[in-house]
Amino acid sequence: MMENKTRISLFQGMMHQKCPHCRKGKMFEFATYNVSKFSKMHNKCPNCGQDFVVEPGFYTGAMYFSYAFNVAILVIFGLGFNILFNPDVLTLTALVIGISFLAMPLNFRYSRILMIYLFSGIKFKENN
Ligand SMILES: [Zn+2]
Repeated sequence: MMENKTRISLFQGMMHQKCPHCRKGKMFEFATYNVSKFSKMHNKCPNCGQDFVVEPGFYTGAMYFSYAFNVAILVIFGLGFNILFNPDVLTLTALVIGISFLAMPLNFRYSRILMIYLFSGIKFKENN
């Protein structure tokens, strides 16, 4: 009973990169900005054993989320910088590409998280 009350919400589970089933085990092995290992993912949940590799090539679909995130970053920051500072085209291009590059680990991870939360068919444990 006590265990269920401390469970985090679905949204918090996604934000904290937790297992979609138990929302306690971490999905990724290393910190987000560990430059060489940010993409390393556990094969199974360290807490409940839920398999994160639902089927071969499952995360290929995450690239569509990644594309959408990148377009959003380019449009929001491109328009924002253009309206606020009105820089020349090369500076603006360098800025938005730099931001997109810096956001790459977050983009990679949240694309996969959206993919597994939305399309894996993993049952979410009930919040009692
Ligand atoms: Zn789990």
